[in-house]
Amino acid sequence: MENKHLLPKLAYAYNALEPFIDQKTMEVHHSKHHQTYTDKFNEALDKHPELYAKKPEELLSNLSSVPEDIRGAVRNHGGGYVNHCFFWEILAPTGQKPSGASSQAINTSFGSFDKFKEQFTAAALGRFGSGWAWLVVNKDKKLEIISTANQDSPLSEGKKPILCIDVWEHAYYLKYMNKRADFVAAFWNVVNWKKVDELFAQAIK
Ligand code: MN
Repeated sequence: MENKHLLPKLAYAYNALEPFIDQKTMEVHHSKHHQTYTDKFNEALDKHPELYAKKPEELLSNLSSVPEDIRGAVRNHGGGYVNHCFFWEILAPTGQKPSGASSQAINTSFGSFDKFKEQFTAAALGRFGSGWAWLVVNKDKKLEIISTANQDSPLSEGKKPILCIDVWEHAYYLKYMNKRADFVAAFWNVVNWKKVDELFAQAIK
């Protein structure tokens, strides 16, 4: 019947981001955590199957239109579903450099790439508890660094993400334990800047 949402396949192997993000973390994060968000998101939508026709991003962009009895579940598990789909896409095996119009916009908006990195890192480290740091294109089509709690999506604030980092402990604890800063520092080695540039081009249209 309705098309349930599926756990996406990764474009790379679980060990492809080693040593920056380790194989075990990738495997558990994708096949367990993301799978659970996917299942619980579907479970919520089973109560209103007509919503399967909408893109998950659409639901998050307009949470107030989601029936109240599943709004919290869509926010949390739908958010978890979409945020992780996005996260896997902006990661890639090592070796990329920022490039294109997004790279220029980053330099212009934040002063330099290093200053951008500093502010993004501060957002990632400053998020108390679980959540995400994001580089988004806001309603004025400007770049902005934000962080969200839990699985809240920037889409719910009308902002289009082009880069993010998951700072839930499950994203780094096996390798980095309490050292979130080391995980955030390692993250820069595995960013898919080509994808970031594509997302930027779509977001400023
Ligand atoms: Mn996660």
